[in-house]
Amino acid sequence: MRRLIGLSLLLALTACAADLRYDLILSVAADGALIGEATVTGIAPGDWTEAVFRLYPAATGADRLALRAVSVDGEMRPWETVEPTVAVVPLSARAGETFSVSFAFEGRVPELEDAGGYGIFARTAHSMTLAQAYPMLAPWKGEWLVEPAFPWGDAVVAPVADYRVIVEVPEGWTVVTSGREMEVGQRLYEAQGDNLREMMIVLLSGYEAQTASLAGVRLRSLAMPGHRTAGAAALAVAYDALQVYQELLGPCPFPELDLVEVPLLGVAGVEYPGLILAGTSYYERYSYERFVFPMIFAHEAAHQWWYAEVGTNQVAEPWADEALATYTSGLYFAAQGRFQEILRYWEDGYRRARIRNREATVASPLSAFPGGEGYGGIVYSGGALFLHEVRTRMGDGAFFQALRRYRDEFRWDIASGGDLLRILEEESPVPLQDLYRRWLGR
Ligand SMILES: [Zn+2]
Repeated sequence: MRRLIGLSLLLALTACAADLRYDLILSVAADGALIGEATVTGIAPGDWTEAVFRLYPAATGADRLALRAVSVDGEMRPWETVEPTVAVVPLSARAGETFSVSFAFEGRVPELEDAGGYGIFARTAHSMTLAQAYPMLAPWKGEWLVEPAFPWGDAVVAPVADYRVIVEVPEGWTVVTSGREMEVGQRLYEAQGDNLREMMIVLLSGYEAQTASLAGVRLRSLAMPGHRTAGAAALAVAYDALQVYQELLGPCPFPELDLVEVPLLGVAGVEYPGLILAGTSYYERYSYERFVFPMIFAHEAAHQWWYAEVGTNQVAEPWADEALATYTSGLYFAAQGRFQEILRYWEDGYRRARIRNREATVASPLSAFPGGEGYGGIVYSGGALFLHEVRTRMGDGAFFQALRRYRDEFRWDIASGGDLLRILEEESPVPLQDLYRRWLGR
């Protein structure tokens, strides 16, 4: 593959924190052509005869990310493409044994207008968002957990891993990622991060950075020069939100959080470990819209705890992280003296969404919201209202104790909604069953 062989020398082995490790090399051209190599190394948690990898960008076009070669422990292997986003690689690893799968892959990052979904695998004149731009190992829970990738909602269900990435960019572009970045050569960046559920990579051109730091977390807001004021406001919201969350939930799971303005499609913000994408249109409207703007950063910052650190199955049980993230964002608004405002927003949103989608409930899977209809109002706002009733019933001490315990027990793991409900119930001084029945139908 062109030029990549030389780059691989930069990837020296280092100690890892998670049981899974990705070594990635990506080369991105100005026209969006992408070529890459990935080595995924780990310890098999069960007896494996195959490993399942996801190619999420292929959900909107098979040529957007496709495998070209696969090798296992250094030997070339055939693989089976079950559908564009699912590749099955035969291998033999017993529980506790080390495995290593290497890939050569290529793809094409479409222009934003053609991107589909939320526009998170897309390019414009100033930004390239490379969400899930490499083969990702599916989670193993006694069997492979493979959910469909819908064009609405968040598709990724993945185990955390340690990452080392080398990215080659076109002239004039820089790199922001979920990890810590370093410029290591001409048009060449290296990034590293531990315990990441995915490695988000964003290429930027012509952006300005503003920074702040808080209790060991470095915050960075990246925006276009014309959006300096909104960029500063984003930084201030994230700073205040992290302060509130750290006090109630414990330390932020990552040493860095980047807030990146990019044009998105049909969504205000998207969360990644250590990185938040926020829609350009909200920066443009910042001067006369002061409610949704802070909500983006308060909500996506909360996902650092609920999604990035405590993972869930976002496809089967989106409420398990979205309701928690939305409710946690309400804690930021409460600290701003605006809790009644956000509560009304949730109530209105939930009521309206129930009219638009009469079938779905707070606990419905992503598939119950065709085209995303009613999704935010029912799962996010309805889910937050449910949690507010739970908190009111339990009392603050027991409620936050339960959230901290849930976090401790499922840190870097994949929890279920049932795990959260069980811990809330165990920590609650009073029964919660009637609330579970009424809101979640369980
Ligand atoms: Zn969310």
